[in-house]
Amino acid sequence: MFRKTDPQQHLFGVETALPAGMRSRLKASWAEVFRLEILPILLRSEADFGILYGSTGRPNFSVGRMLALCLLQELCDFCDQEALDAFGFDARWQHATDIHADEEAYLSRRSLVEFRSRLVKRDPEMALMHRVFAAISDGAIKKLGLSVREQRLDSTHVASNIHTHGRIDLFQSTLKVFIRSLSTAAYDRLPEAVRTWFETESSGWFGLGTADQKREKLQRLASFLRQLIDLFRQDKAVSGSQEYGLLVQLFGEHCELKKSQESTPDKQRVAQSDPPASDADASGEERRADETAKAPDTAVEAQSGPADQGAQDAARGEDTDKTAELDVVIKRNTSGDTLQSPHDPDATYGHKGVGYSAQIIETCNNEGVPEIITAYEVHGAARSDVGKAPDVLQQLENTQRKPEVLYGDGGYPSVPSMPRVQALNVELVAPVNRGPMDVKTFGRDRFEFNELGQVTRCPAGHCPIDHRILSNGTEPTSHAVFNGDICRNCALLDTCPVRAPNHRPAGASARDTVGNFRLEVTAELRLRDEMYAQQQTPQWKERYKIRSGVEATMSELKGCHGLAKLRVRGLPRVRLAVVCKLIACNIRRWARAKAPANGGADAGPSPALPPSQAAVDAYSRLLARGVARSGPGTRSCILCTFYRFLARRFAPYIYGSFFGKPAELLNDFV
Ligand code: SF4
Repeated sequence: MFRKTDPQQHLFGVETALPAGMRSRLKASWAEVFRLEILPILLRSEADFGILYGSTGRPNFSVGRMLALCLLQELCDFCDQEALDAFGFDARWQHATDIHADEEAYLSRRSLVEFRSRLVKRDPEMALMHRVFAAISDGAIKKLGLSVREQRLDSTHVASNIHTHGRIDLFQSTLKVFIRSLSTAAYDRLPEAVRTWFETESSGWFGLGTADQKREKLQRLASFLRQLIDLFRQDKAVSGSQEYGLLVQLFGEHCELKKSQESTPDKQRVAQSDPPASDADASGEERRADETAKAPDTAVEAQSGPADQGAQDAARGEDTDKTAELDVVIKRNTSGDTLQSPHDPDATYGHKGVGYSAQIIETCNNEGVPEIITAYEVHGAARSDVGKAPDVLQQLENTQRKPEVLYGDGGYPSVPSMPRVQALNVELVAPVNRGPMDVKTFGRDRFEFNELGQVTRCPAGHCPIDHRILSNGTEPTSHAVFNGDICRNCALLDTCPVRAPNHRPAGASARDTVGNFRLEVTAELRLRDEMYAQQQTPQWKERYKIRSGVEATMSELKGCHGLAKLRVRGLPRVRLAVVCKLIACNIRRWARAKAPANGGADAGPSPALPPSQAAVDAYSRLLARGVARSGPGTRSCILCTFYRFLARRFAPYIYGSFFGKPAELLNDFV
């Protein structure tokens, strides 16, 4: 049953039991900022998390404190048990979560795990945690007086808790995950060869054997894969499981079905009748396929054709008869956006490895204060950064934190996305790539244009003879056509971006051609060339230097908060871990900025202020009453016990830095 936490902070926290010096250090640490700034935000967010609980049953552990534990865990990069131990034994954690001095700081590991499981199940997109992230980022930006006018963007690789060891390991582990998920009755239906392999194959090693042996093994595993897909296709209880889906996915991504007579000689085949592994390794020619080829992110898929259609049919189970005559052929390459591990089906392969990619944006150019992370996005590693800038800017606009200037690296600008960035009224400062164009070639910024975007004059002062829609090789676009005779005799031809006619003898130069020249003119290309020209200036390079600061944020996230290698698997859990780490990073920075006001967390304990005379007098009177009422010859009563309790509780306030208000309270009370 969901129950909100009482937001009233305790008067007697754990710090009252600490000596003055330790209490002073506690007040100057991150724990104080967390208690005063973060915890109230978490408590205000509690109602959103009510959907995780029912309306009956035992009341929940405080959601605000549970969230606080999740954030503190990532702040210190602790595992679950370390976090729970710190909550139980560390006064800073108890102070941060506002645990009462007499309250038991205990939470079972099961409760913490259960909370995260509910959150992942009910909100896989992590919209709830995103709201918490936004509230804390907003709070930090407001309290620290940061400007969001300029921000910088970068991506980093995030690995989940999986290991990958090539295709054979992937095939083996996917088969084993599926077989382990079967009931006893279903297991008994497995072919004898598959059962023998499953029961006798040792695991935990990889890389042994020659290339031929590995190839042979991979073919055998592929045949097992196909047999199991066919065997359980009609069994709804099995074919509806996630594990069966992984078999189908793996088969579709790595294997194809081809007719025997159409199979190419350099590809090894496995007959439908499942020959033994040694039989499959029939030809030396067939051994050339490189089974260890990892999936490059610019991989070339195998040729599509009727046989590929057969493979898809087999994977979907649409027409068994149609595919029965086909052989399994393992694809030479696959794309990066494919299954990498059955233990984490969401992880994909990018140029930095297997796992996920996190886009992170933070403020920049705020002098003297730490920068705050303002937005993030998590996706599979196979997705490129190219053209991602408009997406993250849209996210920032939705949260009212859109920058006027966004710094990014060369991975972000793309020709189609640049006008979208401009439409959002954001200046993207990032190096653009002109592809194969020679560095000496000048851009379209040297041409003159009219208001319709048509070229009116080239750098040599000549007007185009026509404007036409011509193909650029992939699509029809607008072109300016120049007189070929003039261009061929122009001194600027070697550095001009105009294109000479295609139909010319091999090796002939542009000056040896016949016909008119043309220049592709689109708004995207004009913008790209304009940006490229600006980027050649020292002023632009000096301005762009601020972008590199985001690399320090990536380093901090990986070094202090363990972003590089997570303890979890699956996109929803990775999203949860990443957002908690980003919030933790913001909290650490917020605390660092507030530290001087708190006495300097890094400068050691601040000296305790002397108590005021009024406070000392009040405390003395209180203590005297308690002693007088419990001295020799007097009987102890509930009132004097109460006085002694008050004296003991208020003493730290009187002799600590907080003596003012409690002393007034004491005066009223005594
Ligand atoms: S090559 Fe042609 S388009 Fe280019 S500057 Fe010379 S005349 Fe103008």
